[in-house]
Amino acid sequence: MSPISAPAKVLVVAGTHGNERNAPWLLEHWRRHPEGLQRHGLDLELVIGNPAAHARNRRYLERDLNRCFAADLLADVSQDGADLQRARELVASHGPEAEAPCLVAIDLHSTTSAMGNSLVVYGRRPADLALAAGIQGRLGLPIYLHEADAAQTGFLVERWPCGLVIEVGPVPQGVIQAQICRQTQLGVEAALAVLAAAQQGALRLPAELVVHRHLGSLDLPRHADGTPKACLHPALQHRDWQPLHPGDPVFADPGGTTLGFEPPPGLEGQPVWPVFVNEAAYGEKGIALSLTRRECWPVSAAWSSALSTVASKLAQRGAPL
Ligand SMILES: [Zn+2]
Repeated sequence: MSPISAPAKVLVVAGTHGNERNAPWLLEHWRRHPEGLQRHGLDLELVIGNPAAHARNRRYLERDLNRCFAADLLADVSQDGADLQRARELVASHGPEAEAPCLVAIDLHSTTSAMGNSLVVYGRRPADLALAAGIQGRLGLPIYLHEADAAQTGFLVERWPCGLVIEVGPVPQGVIQAQICRQTQLGVEAALAVLAAAQQGALRLPAELVVHRHLGSLDLPRHADGTPKACLHPALQHRDWQPLHPGDPVFADPGGTTLGFEPPPGLEGQPVWPVFVNEAAYGEKGIALSLTRRECWPVSAAWSSALSTVASKLAQRGAPL
């Protein structure tokens, strides 16, 4: 008999951040009712990203799990800790080289920001862009293209050959809301539909992909001792994805003084599109909001073929090995 290579699965991760409760709750539902995600026939691996943090309703224990996946950090034996160990476990058990490999990772998050139902893509891997374009073509979701940010690296999906984040909000940390679960479910179903179409040679992508390309982030103005001098201006709260022009209100101090948007060098005179506005978990990272530029990119045939190559290696549930 010739050796049979293990069929590859799609990894669906919920609870990479332990205080984001909607996707893990949904995942428990899918475990009880797997038919809910089997319409497209793909073999799925459903995993709670950080069970220890989830049990404590905390984002992480010692280190943000979704910043633990840089290859050099994973390989650095001098670095340890529960979250990093969990990252290594996930790669060992479900990574592309695992005994039961996964080739695509869909990582489900929620946010306190008014991002709506949205996608986060890391860098410009062609298969990721094709998957994002396919989902955008079906649901019209906005896409945050995160790249060239030396302060934020090591995202989970980057360790799999193809993957993206479905990011839904606003919802407080620790709270389950029906509409957040519904939007998450729709995002996952669309992602699986695109992968199944790619697998069957029936991938249809829109002509253009609209991305919001990361430019940088703004921190709150701070006193010398690091405490915030001002908070987010109420006019900007819940205004994710809406253009921000020079002089528009960004911060307000307790005395009622408004601080207007001053574009960073290189961006003078142009609007930017804020994302992750006042996200609760990003205070510790010194991020009050991130700035993006909205761009329209032609969808490339090379993206489709990259996604089709990955999808052709995915197992079909019930298909003979
Ligand atoms: Zn998260």
